[in-house]
Amino acid sequence: MKPNEIDLHKELKKYFGFNQFKGLQEQVVNSIIHGNNTFVIMPTGGGKSLCYQLPALVLDGTAIVVSPLIALMKNQVDAIRSLGSELGVAHVLNSSLTKTEINQVKKDILDGVTKMLYVAPESLTKEEYIQFLRDVKISFVAIDEAHCISEWGHDFRPEYRNLRGIIKQLADDIPIIGLTATATPKVQEDILKNLDMSGANVFKASFNRPNLFYEIRPKTKNVEGDIIRFIKQHKGKSGVIYCLSRKKVEDIAQLLQVNGISAVPYHAGLDAKTRAKHQDMFLMEDVDVVVATIAFGMGIDKPDVRYVIHHDIPKSLESYYQETGRAGRDGGEGHCLAYYSYKDIEKLEKFMAGKPVAEQEIGYALLQEVVAYAETSMSRRKYLLHYFGEEFDDENGEGADMDDNVRNPKKKVEAQNEVVL
Ligand code: ADP
Ligand code: MG
Repeated sequence: MKPNEIDLHKELKKYFGFNQFKGLQEQVVNSIIHGNNTFVIMPTGGGKSLCYQLPALVLDGTAIVVSPLIALMKNQVDAIRSLGSELGVAHVLNSSLTKTEINQVKKDILDGVTKMLYVAPESLTKEEYIQFLRDVKISFVAIDEAHCISEWGHDFRPEYRNLRGIIKQLADDIPIIGLTATATPKVQEDILKNLDMSGANVFKASFNRPNLFYEIRPKTKNVEGDIIRFIKQHKGKSGVIYCLSRKKVEDIAQLLQVNGISAVPYHAGLDAKTRAKHQDMFLMEDVDVVVATIAFGMGIDKPDVRYVIHHDIPKSLESYYQETGRAGRDGGEGHCLAYYSYKDIEKLEKFMAGKPVAEQEIGYALLQEVVAYAETSMSRRKYLLHYFGEEFDDENGEGADMDDNVRNPKKKVEAQNEVVL
């Protein structure tokens, strides 16, 4: 079928059961089915997967989807397969497969059954796969989590930087689709440059979350008491408390329990069974609060988290945005409270001391942005969105009055080592 003859709404309904596209999806899908290089920047949960899955399903040939994590790929492929039997068309090619499995996948691709082939970037560098893929009709290459290309991103992966060269070896003029939830202009430039797609159609969704209230409080000696008070004011509501260290997670979880608050700890030092149990307890609302390191959150989708507290300030505004973004997914109230002291910034700086110089410099620069955000007296939403390259009207924009600075303009948080109130 020619691109213009495809009824996208019909295909959307047929494959995914949705009646409508979300946000910019339709424009993105159109751009891809017309064979254009396309760059998609949408917040987490924005619906990026569908942007390349639908074109893959309606176009001739196989789409290659590059994704950084085997677990993520498996989730996606399972989700596609669960949509219906006619969608038994997504496959994974990676190091976890046996020789027999790999041969089966190859056969399905050559038979034209496979519409989407998920690969890890390191698999794509294997000569064996490159040789094989040269004989495959490739509709396009989608690079999910494209910020992994950039050292300025929060999850830099050197293998991602080889992708452009490999794609060139596969065939001439394969359209490339990059997708990311990282909105900083620096990372975007890096991606476009590295993938050599300066002429790409760029689609950027707004990162504004009007239902989130942003608040920074100075971190005093009594931060724990303050947190307990806050939680008690939100009795029965679900919340997440982020701490920097596993030890702090354990301490605070215990402290909350002692104070009659139902809370569980979550960090990578706990065994997988305990982690899964604590996560389920939170999702099933057997407990109100999860106290966690950043290990908690990957793929967590509890819609009614009412508050996210940062006991320790995060190392970048991207992390802050991602972590606070877990509040209010359902569109209801979400209070984002972070405690800030310069001591914590120095602690984060110390963590970077052993790293390569280039990485340190980037780390310091990102941290300075956190300091500026914490200390600003302007609209936090405006500051945050500006950081992501987005202009926000702090008088009439959606959610304009939803932060501490706007509500109480006189109070200003200053850099201070330790304040005793
Ligand atoms: P992202 O990769 O941008 O974080 P996902 O692709 O994982 O987001 O999609 C987030 C959620 O939105 C999924 O549960 C998906 O089923 C849902 N979704 C995507 N597109 C639509 C749509 N057009 N209508 C309704 N729900 C959608
Ligand atoms: Mg995604």
